[in-house]
Amino acid sequence: MIFEKLASYGHEQVVFCHNPDVGLKAIIAIHNTVLGPALGGTRMWPYKTEQDALDDVLRLSRGMTYKNAVAGLNLGGGKAVIIGDPAKDKSEALFRAFGQFVDSQGGRYITAEDVGIDVNDMEYVYRETQFVTGVHQVHGGSGDPSPFTAYGTLQGLMAALNRKFGDEEVGKYAYAVQGLGHVGMEFAKLLKERGAKIFVTDINQALVERAVSELGAVAVGLDEIYDVPADVYSPCALGGTVNENTLPRLKAKVICGAANNQLANNAIGDEIARRGILYAPDYAVNAGGVMNISLEIDGYNRERAMRMMRTIYHNLARIFEIAERDRIPTYQAADRLAEERIQTIGKLKLPMGRSTPRFQGRVRGL
Ligand code: NAD
Repeated sequence: MIFEKLASYGHEQVVFCHNPDVGLKAIIAIHNTVLGPALGGTRMWPYKTEQDALDDVLRLSRGMTYKNAVAGLNLGGGKAVIIGDPAKDKSEALFRAFGQFVDSQGGRYITAEDVGIDVNDMEYVYRETQFVTGVHQVHGGSGDPSPFTAYGTLQGLMAALNRKFGDEEVGKYAYAVQGLGHVGMEFAKLLKERGAKIFVTDINQALVERAVSELGAVAVGLDEIYDVPADVYSPCALGGTVNENTLPRLKAKVICGAANNQLANNAIGDEIARRGILYAPDYAVNAGGVMNISLEIDGYNRERAMRMMRTIYHNLARIFEIAERDRIPTYQAADRLAEERIQTIGKLKLPMGRSTPRFQGRVRGL
């Protein structure tokens, strides 16, 4: 049963990590290491069943293979989940025990933060293994990736505008920004700096008020965001917001935002294309964060990070070309770009040690 699932997703390895003394139950899934070590965050979540945890880590790790491949990184895809409640079950021992399991992979898996995990938890993981990114700046890490994700999203947006409207004048268009969290607020700021009109919404009223007063945004209700007269819909909150109910309401001709898993299902991706709306695939657009942390591997440098964000523009342009070339929706074209890169680059013989993570310029210990 498990091996059947691994075969259908194409995983290389799944590691079950158990340390009853500290209450650790975790799963590390290494999906694909053809391009390099498998990079992907660790999620801590109170999964109802172990099966739910396994399904989640298999799905997420496969997603990282595609994301890292399209981002042009020399990294494969992996992910880890810790079964537990982040509000109750965290401890130094738990994260150090988890760090030891990460270390035992010898660099085949490199972890980072994800839902339920913060930079302080990573401090403990980092005491046991160097194979962790997104560590605090005091250790030579890259810090909060959100501003990079927002800047990368802007690059993806420019490629999408160019494709759809024939220009990249961000300020000429109106935007519906859903979610004003770490990425959404930063993205809205970038839009505002370019003179754009912005409609915003968020569950958190304080964030909405900030966007109104500081950015001159127009506040709308949580459900109203799908009806506003915007040229671009930018999901920056949750996944699954483009679905059978919302798509017919959108006036936008472009969908481009930072949220993960924006499409409720593949059929919606087909329907978007049928309606002549340009969808900028989420994992290609929001790769700024993973690009940023990946630079920790051979020595973090902010200038390099900013330069790398620009490649998101070219990745999107390539995805749009593939969609046209193969007459497929853009969400499929993104997958195809990833698969083509894994195949062609995977055939190159890399010199020994080229893909071994080095983590230069970082300081371990407290
Ligand atoms: P965040 O938690 O800081 O912000 C999310 C915001 O969305 C919060 O302010 C929340 O109140 C709001 N929200 C939740 N439900 C909403 C709803 N129904 N309607 C309107 N607003 C709602 O998260 P973030 O780091 O800004 O990430 C945003 C999205 O981007 C997520 O989907 C995340 O997976 C994705 N993403 C983030 C990064 C990153 O670098 N932080 C990288 C890649 C992808």
